[in-house]
Amino acid sequence: MRFRPPSFSKISCVQKNNDQFSILIRMILPIYIFGQPVLRKVAEDITPDYPQLKDLIGDMWETLAESEGIGLAAPQIGKPIRLVVIDLDVLSDDLPEYKGFKQVFINAHIVEYDETNTDVSEEGCLSIPAIHEKVTRPTRIHVEWDDENFEHHDEWIEGYLARVMQHEFDHLDGKMFVDRISPLRKQLIKSKLRALTQGRFRCGYKTKVVRK
Ligand code: ZN
Repeated sequence: MRFRPPSFSKISCVQKNNDQFSILIRMILPIYIFGQPVLRKVAEDITPDYPQLKDLIGDMWETLAESEGIGLAAPQIGKPIRLVVIDLDVLSDDLPEYKGFKQVFINAHIVEYDETNTDVSEEGCLSIPAIHEKVTRPTRIHVEWDDENFEHHDEWIEGYLARVMQHEFDHLDGKMFVDRISPLRKQLIKSKLRALTQGRFRCGYKTKVVRK
């Protein structure tokens, strides 16, 4: 998810290892763009022995920072697994309650939506460059996930985080925010979406389209 953050800090690439500091080379991964079949798959849960999981999470953080996003789901880097990283710290000038909020969500599932209250907010997506649309979503959701240590969490979440989670966890079910806008708005952006599938767009980060 993209929000035009005011500023962002990069993940440190230096990690202590065997009493020596070694530089970890993190990879910037290409973002899969609208039209890529992996974005329409229902992603699978993973276990702690998923190959090179720590490296993958590190690369996702680096990719998120490079693309100036606030959330990235694994299908967006071509992997149909239930893994999401969310950085709301980049918004903490405007939303101070999220100061320091950088979290990994593994095997994330939305269990229940509280439909009592909804709100409307403009969303963008790293997989749908240059398109921003208003999306109505419930303000409170019941979610389950495992953290980086595979500790299980089962919580009701509200506020802006609930919106970002819904956007990101939708990716794990093969859905994107443009599926949640009115048919009229969708009709109006149809040619822009087609252009994305054909690689006719510009953006400031590495991408992977269906065909060039
Ligand atoms: Zn997105």
